[in-house]
Amino acid sequence: MPRFSGKTVIITGSSNGIGRSAALLFAQDGANVTITGRNAERLEETRQLILKSGVSESHLNSVLADVTTSGGQDLLVKSTLDKFGKIHILVNNAGAAVADATGATGTDQSIDVYHKTLQLNLQAVIEMTKKVKPHLMETKGEIVNVSSIVAGPQAQPDFMYYAIAKAALDQYTRSTAIDLIQHGIRVNSVSPGVVATGFTNAMGMPDQASQKFYNFMAAHKECIPALVAGQPEDIANIILFLADRKLSSYIIGQSIVADGGSTLVMGCQVHDIRQMMGL
Ligand code: NDP
Repeated sequence: MPRFSGKTVIITGSSNGIGRSAALLFAQDGANVTITGRNAERLEETRQLILKSGVSESHLNSVLADVTTSGGQDLLVKSTLDKFGKIHILVNNAGAAVADATGATGTDQSIDVYHKTLQLNLQAVIEMTKKVKPHLMETKGEIVNVSSIVAGPQAQPDFMYYAIAKAALDQYTRSTAIDLIQHGIRVNSVSPGVVATGFTNAMGMPDQASQKFYNFMAAHKECIPALVAGQPEDIANIILFLADRKLSSYIIGQSIVADGGSTLVMGCQVHDIRQMMGL
C-alpha cells in the first residue's frame, strides 16, 4: 500500500518549485493533496502534472488563494475538510524574498517590504498552524515548515528581512514542536540551500539572470561544494521523510539542512549577487 494512503496533506506554495514537487510525490504516494498558490496558470500546471502521473482527480483539491490573507487560509482549510474530511499533514512551504520595487537594498529597503516579507514567510505560517491545529490534534498529524540556510548566523545584507523571517521561523518550529507534541502533533522543518525554482523569478529576476546565478553558484566550490544547484525533489523528498511518522517519529523540532555543503563553507558571501546575475 502507498505510504500516505488515506492521509490528507495541505501544501502551501504548491503552484511552483519545491511545493509542486512535494505535491507530486505525496500524491504519487497515495495522499489526498490540497495544492494552492495565487497564480492560476501555474497552479493548473501542477494539477495537470499530478493528473498525468496517474493520480485520480478525487485525490486532488486545487485552491487559488493568497496564503497571507485570512480568507485564503480559511478557504484552504474548509475546502480540504469539505473534500477529504480530515487533515493529517500541513506543509508550510509558501515563501519568497520580496524585492524592493525601487531597487533599494540593505537598510534602504522599505518597511513595506519588511511587512510583506514577514507576513508571507512567518505570519502566514503562524496563522495556518493555528487554524490547522485542531484538525491535526484529531489525527495526531505532522507539520513540516520550509525554512532556509539564510536563517543561520551569517549576515545577509541583501536579503535581511527574508533572513530575519526565516530565523524567526526556525524558533517558531522549535517552540511549536514542544507545544504541540503534547497533543501528538510533530513539527519539523527543512532548510534548503540554493535550489533551482521560481524563487529568483519571484524576486523579479528574468530567466537569463536566474540561470546565470545558478550557473555561478554551481561553478564555485566556495558557494556549493557539491558543485550543483539543488533540484526541487532534493527538498521534497526530505519533506515527505519528515511527514512520515514511521520513518522520522523521533525527530522533533529540528531542521534538516540540504544545501550541497554551502553552510559548511559559506564562501559565497564574498561575491556580489548582482555580478553573479550579470546585472
Ligand atoms: P517558488 O517561487 O518556485 O515557489 C514559491 C511558491 O510560494 C509558489 O507556489 C508561490 O505561488 C507561493 N507563494 C508565494 N507567495 C504566496 C502568497 N502570498 N500566497 C500563496 N502562495 C504564495 O520558490 P521555491 O519553491 O524555491 O520556494 C519554496 C520555499 O522554499 C520558500 O519558503 C522559500 O523561502 C524556500 N527556500 C527556497 C530556496 C531556493 O533556493 N529556491 C532556498 C531556501 C529556501 P504563487 O506565485 O502562485 O502565489
